Amino acid sequence: MEFTGLHHITMITGDAQQNAAFYGDLLGLRLVKKTVNFDQPQAYHLYFGDETGAPGSILTWFEFPGAAKGRAGAGAIHTLQLAVADEAALDFWEQRLTGASREPGVLRFEDYDGLKLELLISDLGNAPLVASHPDIPEAYAIQGLHGARAYAVFHNVEDSILTDLLGFTYEGDGEYVLNGSDRRFRFAYDAPTHNHHEGAGTVHHIAWASNDEDHLAWQARIADAGGYVTDVRDRDYFKSIYFRVPSGVLFEIATLSPGFAVDEDPEHLGEALRLPKQHEHLRAQLEQTLRPVDNPRVLA
Ligand code: ZN
Repeated sequence: MEFTGLHHITMITGDAQQNAAFYGDLLGLRLVKKTVNFDQPQAYHLYFGDETGAPGSILTWFEFPGAAKGRAGAGAIHTLQLAVADEAALDFWEQRLTGASREPGVLRFEDYDGLKLELLISDLGNAPLVASHPDIPEAYAIQGLHGARAYAVFHNVEDSILTDLLGFTYEGDGEYVLNGSDRRFRFAYDAPTHNHHEGAGTVHHIAWASNDEDHLAWQARIADAGGYVTDVRDRDYFKSIYFRVPSGVLFEIATLSPGFAVDEDPEHLGEALRLPKQHEHLRAQLEQTLRPVDNPRVLA
């Protein structure tokens, strides 16, 4: 039993409209789903990804309007790494992203909430997962997620929960690679300098992708190892379980099915506010209270 790869990474933002402008307009990802946090339906949950919302391309945000900026610390992911093809792509992004800092093979920058991002030339050999955008040539487009770096107190001690239980390979010095059945992903730990303060610009959790038929077996494997794991939560677009690994990072395991086209035509992903059936009765209220978010794709 193995993960197919990364599924998604979820963050917190203080401003959904800026979120759509930065990740949709500027970085050229597709807003593939506009829904609410199923556990707190007063908050938006926006999903960005490639053209189809494929696992391995997906970044998502919970919006808490006006939330103060947080600071990544022990037990949290602090940097997201996105793949691009080559140095020519980095040249393009260096021009497009004002204030980014360039080194060979990598371009570092922050989003409007202060979340650290890197565009880098991936060594993992993953198939490109690309969204189309009128101002971004396909050859330069972001090709999906390459890796994530987190802070952990015992950052350079091999964690057997990751290796023996979850199938990651330890490469030394806090660096792991997930060789999923479909895609590969780098996950690494650095030494923290302070405690974690959740807020805008911080990462909430990271989700790994499971074949549907393996999902309950993953839950049993974690529980049998003495781990606390949640019951299965139906997220409409996938089913999920959650648990914390010893570093403190919150992991999710999400199924591949049914995907984002389950309640919207693939041509019109992310255009309308989609609510899960348990919150559909709140629609009139939420459409009043949630600040409108325009999908950049619809405006283009
Ligand atoms: Zn998630």
